[in-house]
Amino acid sequence: MRLKHIEISGFKSFAKKATLTFTAPVTCVVGPNGSGKSNVVESFRFVLGEQSMKSMRGKSGADLIFRGGNNAPKLSRAAVSITFDNTDKVFSFNTEGTSNAPVLFDEVTFTRELFADGTSRYLMNGTEIRLKQMVELLSSVNIGTSSHHIISQGEADGILRASARDRREMLEDALGLKVYHFRIKESENKLAKSTETLKEVQSLRRELAPHLNFLKKQVEKVEKGRAIREELEGLLVQYLATERANLRDEDNRLAQAHSLIANKKSQLEAVLETLPEETSHDSTAGERSAFASQLQVIREKRRGVEARISRLEGMVEAQRQMLIAQTKQQQHVAKAITFEADEYHTLLNDLEVLLRNIREAQSLETTKTFVQKIEHILTQLKNREEKIPVQAAPVIDTGIHDTALELEDLERELKALIGQEESVQRQLQAAEQQRESAMLATQEATRKRYEIIGEIKQCEAELQILAVSKSAFMERKAAVDTELKESGFLFGPSFLHTLESTQPVPQFDIHTQKRNIDRLKIRLDEHAGIGNEVVTEYESTVERDAFLAREVTDIEASIRNLETLIIDLKRVLDEQFTSGVKVINERFGDFFKTMFGGGNAFLSITLEKKRRRRMTEEEEIEAAGEDPEQDEDQFERGIEVHVNLPEKKVKELNMLSGGERSLVSIALLFAISQVNPPPFLVLDETDAALDEANSRRYGDMIELLAEYSQLIVVTHNRETMSRASVLYGVTLGTDGGSKLLSIKFDEAVKVAK
Ligand code: ATP
Repeated sequence: MRLKHIEISGFKSFAKKATLTFTAPVTCVVGPNGSGKSNVVESFRFVLGEQSMKSMRGKSGADLIFRGGNNAPKLSRAAVSITFDNTDKVFSFNTEGTSNAPVLFDEVTFTRELFADGTSRYLMNGTEIRLKQMVELLSSVNIGTSSHHIISQGEADGILRASARDRREMLEDALGLKVYHFRIKESENKLAKSTETLKEVQSLRRELAPHLNFLKKQVEKVEKGRAIREELEGLLVQYLATERANLRDEDNRLAQAHSLIANKKSQLEAVLETLPEETSHDSTAGERSAFASQLQVIREKRRGVEARISRLEGMVEAQRQMLIAQTKQQQHVAKAITFEADEYHTLLNDLEVLLRNIREAQSLETTKTFVQKIEHILTQLKNREEKIPVQAAPVIDTGIHDTALELEDLERELKALIGQEESVQRQLQAAEQQRESAMLATQEATRKRYEIIGEIKQCEAELQILAVSKSAFMERKAAVDTELKESGFLFGPSFLHTLESTQPVPQFDIHTQKRNIDRLKIRLDEHAGIGNEVVTEYESTVERDAFLAREVTDIEASIRNLETLIIDLKRVLDEQFTSGVKVINERFGDFFKTMFGGGNAFLSITLEKKRRRRMTEEEEIEAAGEDPEQDEDQFERGIEVHVNLPEKKVKELNMLSGGERSLVSIALLFAISQVNPPPFLVLDETDAALDEANSRRYGDMIELLAEYSQLIVVTHNRETMSRASVLYGVTLGTDGGSKLLSIKFDEAVKVAK
């Protein structure tokens, strides 16, 4: 990698295009004061992306564009191009990771254009790139942004005047450690961002938690509801299957019982129809009353006959009295017939007794017996009549005879009447018997009737009970139908399908299970109203929460990684810085000795409080004991320069002479540039303060340095010029524009003078 040339156009005093070609290790730029040499140096700063106007001696971008002169117009654009040889492909893009991507061009030209409005454009090989990309590409070839490789006029001892912290930065840049700072900063930014994101994600999770909790409870409710629903469905299927079968049985039972009882009832009613009414006609009544009146007539007749008999008997009595009187008259007439008369008397007495008996006789039988006896007595009386002697005075008995005859007739008549009475009596008895049996038959029929009516009543009562059962059945059926309808509505057609294929459950406690069903319905109602979208929302929320949890884990992991990375980067930075300083110190000591012909100089790493107060010795010791990584916010590293001039006791930098300061600075700058040699070094009159002897030493060092970096040296010093292979003279034209021309050493010496 080699610097090939720089092309300046419209930049500061270079109105027209001027080109410096770097073909030798050391190129000198010479020219009178104010010709534009420093503008050349600044063109390097400019093209490499310098943002500080001050370091290019301007206030605004416009100050860097040729502002015109005598006969030369003001320009509106300044452009500087710097070209490097890249055949060894050292330029590379930093690809944020493991490997860098090399730039494959053999030649790399960076161009910066500046416009009147102060805006800049950066190009690489004619293609616009961003400043950051250019800076990265340059840092890949050790051309850092701190421009320690471009030392401006009067800035040589800048490194001595700088603060410890600035010095450290300069060193870090020279050591190529800026990239670590960049990466640390980048990682810290990422860390801050990750920490912020973590907080945000954690806060999101916290915000999500109550909602998630709420949804979880809702989902549990939904699941509980689902379980209840399933239980209810199962129970309802069993209930309905069983109850429907029960109802079918009950319906059959009721129908059978009804038809049985109804049949029985109609049979009973038919039987009842056949039974005589209770108030049936007494068929014997007429007959019996005819017999009774016949009997009455007969009895009347009999009483007539009996009255007549009694009258006749009276007559017989009277005649007997007369006879007795006649007899008493004749007693002494006919003792012979006394006996018969007594007998007769006895017979008469008997007759009287009998007549009395007849009168008193109650029954026909006894009457008959008395009549027979009377007939016997009459027969005896006839016989006595024949035996009565004739001599006895005749008893007048004509009346008796007639009366007896009449009596006989009457008795016959009586006999006939008694016969008639008996016959009528018998007929009456038969009629009564008939009536009685008819009555008995009626009674039996009535009893039977009442029995049947009772049975019919029983049937009716049973039918009523059946009707009550039927209405209870109907209610049950209606309840089952409603349940079925509701279930179909609640569970859909599949429920009915399942129901059809479900067998009734044996020993299913309908009442208990119905209560369970109702209880489940109430509980289902309590769980109702939460839609399935809650489940979806819950799932998506769980997913979101899980996603956030993963985010948290990932971010925490990345925070840990970043923290580790930052620690590692800082450690590497620290190690490399320490070892870099060590190497610089070695070179610094050597250069110092060369420059001063002895003595010693070195750099030390300091730890300072950030507020830039110098620490007391005790504080330094204390701070040295602390872990800077732990207290990095409070402490920062710095670089101190220590010198020990030969033959002198001077150790303080501010006690050095101007020349000495120049020498120390140059020694240090050279030492720094030796560690990571940049491709080129631009030195603007860094040798101005040197005396002849020191100019020679300076010249020696220039040659030494040129082995590692190309040198572009602006100088008035003859000694320095003598070390250059190529010399450029800068002159200021009458138009106010600077011109460059390649010159020989002698010309250069002349120009310089
Ligand atoms: P010395 O040897 O005294 O250090 P020098 O050669 O380094 O001088 P410079 O400082 O580079 O000279 O150049 C200064 C010159 O550049 C001045 O004459 C100044 O007028 C001129 N100059 C600066 N800016 C512009 C500009 N924008 N347009 C035109 N000329 C400019």
